[in-house]
Amino acid sequence: MKTPKITLIPGDGIGPEVTSATCKIIEAAGVKVEWEVCEAGAAVFKKGLPSGVPTETIESIKRNRIALKGPLETPVGYGEKSANVTLRKLFETFANIRPIREFPGVKSPYAGRKIDFVIVRENVEDLYAGIEYMQTPGTAQTLKIITKKGCEKIVRLAFEYARSEGRKSVHCATKANIMKFSEGTLKRTFEEIAPEYPEINAQHIIVDNCAHQLVRFPEKFETIVTTNMNGDILSDLGSGLIGGLGFAPGANIGNDIAIFEAVHGSAPKYAGKNTINPTAVILSGVMMLRYLDLQDIADKVEQAVLVTLKEGKVLTRDIIGDEKAATTSQFTDEIIKNLGRTIDWWPKRQYKKLQVPKISSAPDYTKAKSRQVVGVDVFVESPMDSESLGKNLELLSEGTPFKLKMISNRGVVVYPSSGVSPDVVDHWRCRFMLKEETANLNDDLLLPLLKKIGDQHTWAHLEKLNVFDGKNGFSRDQGEN
Ligand code: NAP
Repeated sequence: MKTPKITLIPGDGIGPEVTSATCKIIEAAGVKVEWEVCEAGAAVFKKGLPSGVPTETIESIKRNRIALKGPLETPVGYGEKSANVTLRKLFETFANIRPIREFPGVKSPYAGRKIDFVIVRENVEDLYAGIEYMQTPGTAQTLKIITKKGCEKIVRLAFEYARSEGRKSVHCATKANIMKFSEGTLKRTFEEIAPEYPEINAQHIIVDNCAHQLVRFPEKFETIVTTNMNGDILSDLGSGLIGGLGFAPGANIGNDIAIFEAVHGSAPKYAGKNTINPTAVILSGVMMLRYLDLQDIADKVEQAVLVTLKEGKVLTRDIIGDEKAATTSQFTDEIIKNLGRTIDWWPKRQYKKLQVPKISSAPDYTKAKSRQVVGVDVFVESPMDSESLGKNLELLSEGTPFKLKMISNRGVVVYPSSGVSPDVVDHWRCRFMLKEETANLNDDLLLPLLKKIGDQHTWAHLEKLNVFDGKNGFSRDQGEN
């Protein structure tokens, strides 16, 4: 067997304890790994590097294309970004895979239900793109960026992941009923791609219903693909079903790069105490071995963990309570002692190497045959009431190629009035349509309108109203016809 070279980031808090337990077990199982130990997180922030990830660590991951990582603390209360998010973004690890599975001997209200599903969470887009603005002193905006390309990558990966583990179903969980463009893109992409995987049962599910079903019937799910924010919430719900964070492993997968880490954080109060449960990172190590296609070794480590948990002779504090608790090192040694033993407690899967889908890197990945810009939404900050503002903007647009179609406030049409009076703030979405239906908005038409608005009001931002291939690329507001 070739000696794999892997970047090892021990991380903060309990990180060094849980990662060293994992390395010890992997080596004892028969893989000689060349670990390249690198820094990231608190120690690096303290040295004054605001990203928390030094160049040497970035270079090591670039070289090795694979890393095992302990948790990294995110500084609270001062300017630095999360080093975890920096790593995810730098290496475009677009998928976060979180298996949720019942373990023998681990207490949970769901014990015996045979929970065994995996959440495939989009990892770089959505609200986590981190693009935020204060548009007025009292109105914040976060952009939810969802791309067709990002959806295609995550959907294909979910099907490939299901295939690599012999899973028979994939659910796509979205809020497409409300966010028809952003969440809807994931749903549509899922429905387009599903027929390419005829052996897998593909179903869409509204995400709130998915949360409800996960609590009532978690055993009916095998794979769930979802957007970043939905996945963040569903996967924590999932780890709650099976005994807590000590049992939730994870993988961040990119085009040809992968970073393996537990879902949990650095649990600083347990740092250095040798009491923490290392199972989540050990199982992240199992996922890493499977990614390297070392299926036999992965099975061997996984089985040893299951045997240790089932026998329950040597368990950590979180599983068995303080009185009978073994230390992290004793638990690790017990797993090593159990390497080579197997149990029938759980049906074994037939694992194959994960085929990460190759998708074109072209920026203009999605092209339209035709496009027209039929108007513009101007977001205006004004203390006026809706009637006065509406009348004023109608006057301003006289003599221009535009007519004011409507004004909405927090998503509800307030001008022309529908007779209801929602609570409003000084942040108005003012929709101007070109009077001539076949015309195309250009800067020569737009700039004089903006100048007129800007002379009397503060405008915060603009959105062009695009029509791609004959379909509106903008939403209607509540109450807009
Ligand atoms: P946390 O470190 O996950 O710890 C929360 C609690 O979960 C612990 O107090 C402990 O519960 C339990 N727990 C966590 N890991 C465990 C394990 N291996 N075995 C047994 N129990 C475990 O969450 P946090 O306190 O919110 O975050 C601490 C720091 O970690 C923060 O700086 C945060 O930003 C960072 N973080 C990093 C990552 C990452 O690197 N991927 C992820 C999450 C958080 P009890 O107190 O009940 O024993």
